[in-house]
This record gives sequence, C-alpha cells and structure tokens, in this order.
Amino acid sequence: MKFVEESPKMTPVLRETDVLVLGGGPAGLSAALAAAREGVDTILVERFGCFGGVITQSMIGTIAWYRYAKTVDAGGIGLEFEKRAKEMNGSINILGNIKNKDMIATLEQEGLMVNGEPTYEVLETEVFKHVADELVQEAGITPLLHCIAVDVVMEDNTIKGVITESKSGRRAILAKRVIDATGDADIAYLSGVPFRKSPKNELMEVTVNFGASGINIGKFLMYVYLNPSRIGDWGETSGKEEDSFTTYLVEPFKKAKEAGEIPKNVDIESFWTNYTDAGEITSFNGIHMKNIDPTDVWDLTKAEIDGRKRVLWAIKALKKYTPGFKKARLRTIGSSLGTRESRKIIGEYEITENDIRNQARFEDSIGICPEFIDGYGIAVMPTTGRYFQVPIGIIIPQKVENLLVAGRCVAGDKISHAATRQMCCCMVTGQGAGVVAAVSIKENVPCRQVSIPRVQEALKRQGVRIA
Ligand SMILES: Cc1cc2nc3c(=O)[nH]c(=O)nc-3n(C[C@H](O)[C@H](O)[C@H](O)COP(=O)(O)OP(=O)(O)OC[C@H]3O[C@@H](n4cnc5c(N)ncnc54)[C@H](O)[C@@H]3O)c2cc1C
Repeated sequence: MKFVEESPKMTPVLRETDVLVLGGGPAGLSAALAAAREGVDTILVERFGCFGGVITQSMIGTIAWYRYAKTVDAGGIGLEFEKRAKEMNGSINILGNIKNKDMIATLEQEGLMVNGEPTYEVLETEVFKHVADELVQEAGITPLLHCIAVDVVMEDNTIKGVITESKSGRRAILAKRVIDATGDADIAYLSGVPFRKSPKNELMEVTVNFGASGINIGKFLMYVYLNPSRIGDWGETSGKEEDSFTTYLVEPFKKAKEAGEIPKNVDIESFWTNYTDAGEITSFNGIHMKNIDPTDVWDLTKAEIDGRKRVLWAIKALKKYTPGFKKARLRTIGSSLGTRESRKIIGEYEITENDIRNQARFEDSIGICPEFIDGYGIAVMPTTGRYFQVPIGIIIPQKVENLLVAGRCVAGDKISHAATRQMCCCMVTGQGAGVVAAVSIKENVPCRQVSIPRVQEALKRQGVRIA
C-alpha cells in the first residue's frame, strides 16, 4: 500500500462532557438516555442525519417481532421506544384490521395475539426519527448529527475522547467515559481493544431494504393467507416454532429466476412487514448480499450499488407474480444498507451459545433478554418465557479504560451473536453501558471496578428487569 504523510496539526476541542456516546442506533440511543437520566452530562454523536441506526436508515420497524404471549421482556428503554412511538402515532397495528374470528383464534393460539390485541406493533420508521429526537431532547442530551468519529484521543491505555469530522471540520470531543455504539466497534478498534471478525465469506449478509406503494393490500393478504410461510422454512428451529406463521415471501422471486429475469445465484427471498391502509408495504427485508466486509469501503460501495439494482428486479418480480401488486411502485430504498455483523470486541466476559440456549444466570447481570436466536440458519423464538441474563463483562473491553461497548459489537461467540445482535438485546447492553458510565463517574472508579449493586439499583429504577 502507498502512504502519504499528514502534517501534525492542532485540533480544536468542540466540547467536553461526562459521557460521550458514538453511534445513535438502538444501542447508542439507549446508552445516552440511560446516562443522561442518571444526571450526567451526555453527548450523542451520529454520522448520519437522524438517530435510530438500522431502524431509521434501513427501515426496520420490527423491534419487537420476537414477542409472543408468554415472552418475558427486558423492560427498560426498549419497551419505552414502543410505547412512545405508539403514543406519537408512530407505530402500526398490522393485525388491527383482522375481524375474522377464526383467524383471531389461530393468532391467539400461536401466541401472536392476546385478547384480540397483537403482542407488538411495528414502528413507523420515518416517524421514529422524530420520536428519537424528542426522547433525546427531553433527557437533556446534547445531540450531534452529521458528525463521524474517525480517531481516538488516548493517554496510555485510557481513552480521553475522540476526533470527529463534520462540516465544521476536524474537532475533538473529550469525555470522562466513552461508549462505542457504532455497531462496527470503530472506537474500540481505533483505541486498540482486541477484537475478532469472521472472514468475510462467513459474516452474516448485508441488506438493502426497500418499500413499495400502490398495493392492493386485501388481495395480497388473501394470497399470504392461502400460501402461508413457516419459521421452519428458514432453517433449524428448536422444534416448537417449526410451523409458526411468518411473513416470508419466496414464490415471486423464484418465478422470476425461473423465467431468467433475476440471475439464479442472487439471494432474494423477502421478509415483509409494515403494511398500511394507504396501500404500502414500507419494508421488504430481502435483498441480501454475502461476502461483504462492512468495514471495507469498497465492499460497502459495491453492496449499495448491487443492492439497488436488485431492488428494481424485486419490484418487477413483485408486480408480475404477486397478487395485489399489479400497480405497485418502488416507494423507498433504505438510506444506508443494513449490516448484521462485523467486529466483535473481546470483553471481560465472552457470552456463549451455551449461555443463550440454557438460560444463563450471572450475579453481575445488567438485564435480561428473551431466548431469541435468529441467524446462521437458526431460528429460536421466545415462545415459552425462557430468558438469559446479560453479564456486565460483555460491554467492558479488554485493555482500554474508560471505554464501554454496546449493541451488536459486544463480546461473545459466533452463535451468541444471533441473539445479542437483536435490537432488544442491543437496547439492554446500551442502557447498561449508559448506567455503568454514569455510576462509575459518580464513584470515581474505572468502569471495570464499578459497584455492581449500585448499577443494578439504578437500572431497576430505570425500569430494567435484572433477574
Ligand atoms: C436488514 C436488517 C434487518 C434486521 N431486522 C431486525 C429485526 O426485525 N428485529 C431485530 O431486533 N433486529 C433486526 N436486525 C438487527 C438489528 O437491527 C441490529 O443488530 C441493531 O440495529 C444493532 O444496533 P446497534 O445500535 O448496535 O447498531 P446500528 O443500528 O447499526 O447503529 C449504529 C449507529 O452508529 C452510527 N455510526 C457508525 N459508525 C459511526 C462513527 N464512526 N461515528 C458516528 N456514528 C457512527 C451509524 O450510522 C448508526 O446510526 C436487523 C438487521 C438488519 C441489517
């Protein structure tokens, strides 16, 4: 590789704060809210123009699609997002129009409805941009959008802040505690935390999501009812969810491939959600691309461009082969492709597949997550009330002080990632990180020496289920 030498420069300090959170996805939002609510000065920095991460950039509103009648929930900020979105007319009751008693009885039997009400609503991801703004402002967090963290300020093995780039130029932000919620563990990586990343041909796929309008929803739902998909079609299950209903669309894309309209080696099988009375389906999660390293700018560019081409193929296939789609049009393409897996830090504790599958219990729990595994061809849904506890060690990186990590890049083995990457778990690790940062500042101790009972007390006060 060829190099250029940059001249040394003095970088102005934009701001100093107690807690600095990088990345405004489900984890970063939760971390910032939790820290600010503990009374410490908090800044939330996001590289794009809105908070929400995958929710708003890739239009994923199914924050709670794991929830069945018997699911034991984590509580805390995750539930608050759903409640607040609903209050602000920012969620969709996709089962709300079902009046047929037999259908309601079937959904109740499956655990997807209780007393005629669905177990969850789907977030309206455009409205969520505003919901997030409101929550951030109410908590007194200092928001900073269109600002990317590109380097770290270190003193020996302690992080003191980050260097950012934005339209205002290159600026430092200094902080007593830094929380890396970038998804890709950018800050941990830059500060020298040990990490692992699978070879790119083994990483989970990236996805360009899209939405469509002009759909005859009634006709389409009848087609879905007559051609149901099962969770068992995705891969290995624990058995109990094998025949559970899911919104998975395969046939139109299969037909387009058979007709030579979509290349046979292209991965298009779409999970769809969020239909509206206005004839829209706002999220098709089906354009998947393998062999992409989300920390390589060339791969990211290729995936965005290939993904958009495939979206157009998908729309054509939907129009031609799906009842109700004759007049359909492309409505939106996610403003950024969605990433499922890249760097994972090596933490004080590495959560394992065994922990997830066997209801692990930890004395240093910072929350619980329902037993929900989705990835690597495994689909286990939390239909029975089983759950695991989340230990503090997975958010505390090795080697670097004053740094915490939250969201999909927390420490753990391969299969555990199929659980910890879920938004419900990202919000638990985010809220935990925010509270640990705040309590450790108040106690004036490094994060890894924080008082666990004080952290747990604060989390309980914030509505988090610990045990
Ligand atoms: C297509 C797709 C569908 C999914 N469906 C579901 C689902 O239905 N339910 C579910 O629970 N989970 C789902 N997931 C998984 C889940 O959405 C993610 O794992 C989760 O959003 C991760 O949260 P996070 O906060 O760690 O990261 P992200 O949501 O990725 O947020 C990271 C944020 O950090 C910002 N950022 C990154 N780098 C920097 C930087 N250097 N400086 C400043 N900001 C930065 C990003 O712009 C982004 O806003 C899906 C994932 C994908 C990709």
